[in-house]
Amino acid sequence: MFTLRSLVCVARIACYARPRILEKSWQQGHVYLGAATFAGTCKQLGNCKMSFDKEELKKKLTPIQYEVTQEKGTERPFTGELNDETRPGMYQCVVCGAQLFKSETKFDAGCGWPSFYDQIDEAAVTMTEDSSFGMVRTETTCSKCGAHLGHVFDDGPKPTGQRYCINSASLKFDPKTSSKKEEPKSEL
Ligand SMILES: [Zn+2]
Repeated sequence: MFTLRSLVCVARIACYARPRILEKSWQQGHVYLGAATFAGTCKQLGNCKMSFDKEELKKKLTPIQYEVTQEKGTERPFTGELNDETRPGMYQCVVCGAQLFKSETKFDAGCGWPSFYDQIDEAAVTMTEDSSFGMVRTETTCSKCGAHLGHVFDDGPKPTGQRYCINSASLKFDPKTSSKKEEPKSEL
């Protein structure tokens, strides 16, 4: 799979380069993302529907889950356990359990992080400006508890054109609550 690996490497470099390109489009206006969603995260606004004690979360979450969701960390590409997940199901916030993404909207962006072209509904994920690391990006957080999820870019596939680039460490996958109809089980 040398060729595939090479392609992935190129795509990975492109992923890192994209935020710089997006800086220009940001300055020109946020085409897809809706200004109303940029008011701030629920933590910044102090109106999270669910909040958790810091020490409680440190016990509940793994170190990488805590670092990503509470300290805006980023897992290394191709290391997250949900990057290659293809089963039907629902992706939930690892902190509060809020439903965030459907498996039907997951696609392989080649970047090493789970990627979705849409959130489950427009209120599930909050988008805010993130100007860290010398880039201007759109940060995504859980609207219920304020957990950091990742970023969203406007270079995704149809129908939305968006690419939600989400850390596996922010997500919990539930294959049982698929939005697809379950096949009736045949008993042999
Ligand atoms: Zn949450």
